[in-house]
Amino acid sequence: MSVETAAPAAFIEKAPLERYVPPIRPSLVGLSRAELAHAIGQIGVAPAQCRMRAQQLWHWLYVRGATRFDVMTSVSKDLRADLERAFTLDRPEVVAEQVSVDGTRKWLLRLPGESADRPHEVECVYIPETGRGTLCISSQVGCTLNCSFCHTGTQRLVRNLTPGEIVGQVLVARDRLGDWPGDAPPPGAIVPTDGGRFVTNIVMMGMGEPLYNFEAVRDALLVVADNEGLAISKRKITLSTSGVVPNIPRTGEEIGVMLAVSLHAVRDELREVLVPLNRKYPIATLLDACRNYPGLTNAKRITFEYVMLKGVNDTLSDARELVRLLRGIPAKINLIPFNPWPGTSYECSDWDVIERFSEVVFNAGYSSPVRTPRGRDILAACGQLKSATEKLSARERMALRAMAMTE
Ligand code: SAH
Ligand code: SF4
Repeated sequence: MSVETAAPAAFIEKAPLERYVPPIRPSLVGLSRAELAHAIGQIGVAPAQCRMRAQQLWHWLYVRGATRFDVMTSVSKDLRADLERAFTLDRPEVVAEQVSVDGTRKWLLRLPGESADRPHEVECVYIPETGRGTLCISSQVGCTLNCSFCHTGTQRLVRNLTPGEIVGQVLVARDRLGDWPGDAPPPGAIVPTDGGRFVTNIVMMGMGEPLYNFEAVRDALLVVADNEGLAISKRKITLSTSGVVPNIPRTGEEIGVMLAVSLHAVRDELREVLVPLNRKYPIATLLDACRNYPGLTNAKRITFEYVMLKGVNDTLSDARELVRLLRGIPAKINLIPFNPWPGTSYECSDWDVIERFSEVVFNAGYSSPVRTPRGRDILAACGQLKSATEKLSARERMALRAMAMTE
């Protein structure tokens, strides 16, 4: 990119307003095994024992779902008391839970603010389907970026989440769903009934740009994917980015999860308006990074997200250009109906326009670009949301995105 076309970074990227202030007794949730062993060493456990103790704690935390040290029967009473004095097993505090008729659940989570009297909130959404349950989680309070069609983009970036707060969202979901050995789901809960776990898939599509909080997201997802713990396979974890190019290869190399890219436009001039980060990393640069994504194969494709905006990016020539641009990249395409929010001037494309657009994509060999059953979800979603803008909740927005993603 030439200097002339490069916008000042501050214009595109917001700086966090706050820092995370750890509590006096920090939570052990989200630490790596090595950090856990180190923490245990700090309260006087002999160095030769730290690894073994860390392993025990790991098991209690991520296999058994312990929320208190005193249930850890394989740990000596003295050590449990020492742990209790120095640490907690706290997850983000659930301040509200909403359950929809279709079983979707939204949790409003409170996170500590820099000043104790100004806590922050993020949401986490669970979407049960036959045979799987998808959890949509957040990476930042607010967002570094300012995509013009996204409600989060209009908000300030308050701060990055810690690995503990990211892993904590998974634990909260499993706590609330009764998804630990010996637990049961709450009466009437809709959960997968195939005998497997209730949270099977994770999408990083909540609040925030995960690749502007790279280290914390990486460390958290490695905890979530650890096969002696929560054991959610990396193939069932999808990280969605608006295109933070330098961290795309790192995502493949250091995390190894599935990648989704918010493309949304096929020409730089338009993408600069929708996703201003495009001024820094234009489409060709972004697609090059995708082409070189470590581990990319036909069995492990990149998902390209394309939000359908009425009269903005939804012509048939846009559709043809989309398939042309993606030629040669093992890709899936997800057409996402735009979810309006109060104050936005964008609208969702009409259903017949989405259908015609999706036909072009389908004829180019991309199966099921709009979530099945075709029509029902999209039509219902667009129609419902349009007529109920005031009632539109973050849960609905996130649920819709996550559903489009995991199909
Ligand atoms: N920051 C990341 C992940 C969070 S947003 C990213 O941008 O990819 C997850 C997805 O939801 C992105 O594809 C984003 O473009 C899309 N999105 C945001 N607001 C939306 C809206 N109002 N309607 C439909 N999709 C939206
Ligand atoms: Fe941030 Fe993603 Fe919203 Fe853009 S679309 S403002 S990157 S959350």
